[in-house]
Amino acid sequence: MTKKVRVRFAPSPTGPLHIGGVRTALFNYLFAKKHGGDFVLRIEDTDQNRFVEGAEQYITESLNWCRIPYDEGVEKDGGFGPYRQSERKHIYKQYADQLIEKGHAYYAFDSAESLDTHRKEHEAKGKTFIYNWHNRLKLNNSLALTAKEVKAKLDAGEPYVVRYKSPQNETLHLKDIVRGDIEIDTNILDDKVLYKSDGMPTYHLANIVDDHLMEITHVIRGEEWLPSLALHYLLYRSFEWEAPQFAHLPLILKPTGKGKLSKRDGAKFGFPVFPLEWDDTKSGELYKGFREEGYFEDALVNFLAFLGWNPGTEQELFSLEELVHAFDLERINKAGARFDIDKMKWYNQQYMQHKSDDELATIFQKQQSELAEIDVNYIALVVGLIKERASFVSDFWNLSHYFFIAPESYDEKASKKAFKEDTADILKQLVELIKPINDFTSANLQNDIKGWITSNEIGFGKVMQPLRLSLVGALQGPDVFEIMFMIGKQETIKRIQKVIEQL
Ligand code: GLU
Repeated sequence: MTKKVRVRFAPSPTGPLHIGGVRTALFNYLFAKKHGGDFVLRIEDTDQNRFVEGAEQYITESLNWCRIPYDEGVEKDGGFGPYRQSERKHIYKQYADQLIEKGHAYYAFDSAESLDTHRKEHEAKGKTFIYNWHNRLKLNNSLALTAKEVKAKLDAGEPYVVRYKSPQNETLHLKDIVRGDIEIDTNILDDKVLYKSDGMPTYHLANIVDDHLMEITHVIRGEEWLPSLALHYLLYRSFEWEAPQFAHLPLILKPTGKGKLSKRDGAKFGFPVFPLEWDDTKSGELYKGFREEGYFEDALVNFLAFLGWNPGTEQELFSLEELVHAFDLERINKAGARFDIDKMKWYNQQYMQHKSDDELATIFQKQQSELAEIDVNYIALVVGLIKERASFVSDFWNLSHYFFIAPESYDEKASKKAFKEDTADILKQLVELIKPINDFTSANLQNDIKGWITSNEIGFGKVMQPLRLSLVGALQGPDVFEIMFMIGKQETIKRIQKVIEQL
């Protein structure tokens, strides 16, 4: 029987979740759903120094907004909890002890100061200090001390860490679904700290123990964790546990394609790199969020899916269900994925066209105070006429204000072009023509006005341009007869008359 697929997203609550983290969560979700498996959210909060208030809530709120729900996690027990590592503190010590008993790990009593001195001495000689096989017997640890000395130190409550004893002279053969086969010479590995005497495990130990206990079958995470893969493999081997399969997702690169996209890039390039807005109390900085900037969550998800993955076809628009169906770890690229904000805007524009006018009208009304008293059905009709030219709801007002309020001024350049000596006279005739039209529909208006222009040989530009300017204030907007129909007869005449008076 093959095992049920179980994957996890394991962020550390050290700040707002970066957009790369959302992509990691998404790929885990897609893979789990594709295989009928479970998607677990685990909070890796063992590093108390880096803990940031509100960061965990930010993570869950981001996943909720993107509609990437987790099956198990904080407040959603699936029988493998608790899901916060700080609440699992009591679990890890026995595993550190196990490794020590088996000879795969050892106590190290070196003080921070002595390690610092070693580091500085090495630096002065142009070398890097690495704690491992080549010097560990000369340092202050249970491999170098006698059993009696070690016991005395432990009994005296001397602070210690537990370090992994990396093997010597071995070539490890690692497998990664994205990267293929990787060979690592164990002599380059350092003896990483697994556990500290304050009762806290480090990331490496807690991560491996939890993945094992939570029966994780596939570890899908960012490329920055690739350097830890060798140690993680070794830990599974030392515990005599079956290792999960690994897939390391490619880096997300700056829009220039050079270097990793960082949280600073948001401010630099003027677009968000976080799903939601984040008010950084420490730095006093406000980081923009995709949600607050008017991006649609389904458009964002579609965009993120293509950062490092492609379906192998021309299709670019995918609903979440379609992504689940098409997703495949084998189709993830090794090369970094450029973060192209114009592509993101394109997705937003595309998703906008598929949203109902009613839904968009409700958002628009909430955003624009001038619309508070206006019938939402009318707003929806306006939205239907202009949304094609918008990427964001925040573009709507510029494209549509004249449907709600009369223009205060008229575009200077356009006025020079459109308002001629005979314009006032023509507009007066136009008003007389419009007045008796009772069924004020765009079709009727078009028919009557065009007929009048043709039979009197006035010239279309001479009528249509001043007319549009009177109604809109600029030579822009959708079909002029639609605009007339929408604002109604009275308002149409009022706006034309205002221009006649000014001419
Ligand atoms: N806590 C790690 C992080 O913040 C998890 C890495 C992993 O998925 O193994 O990304």
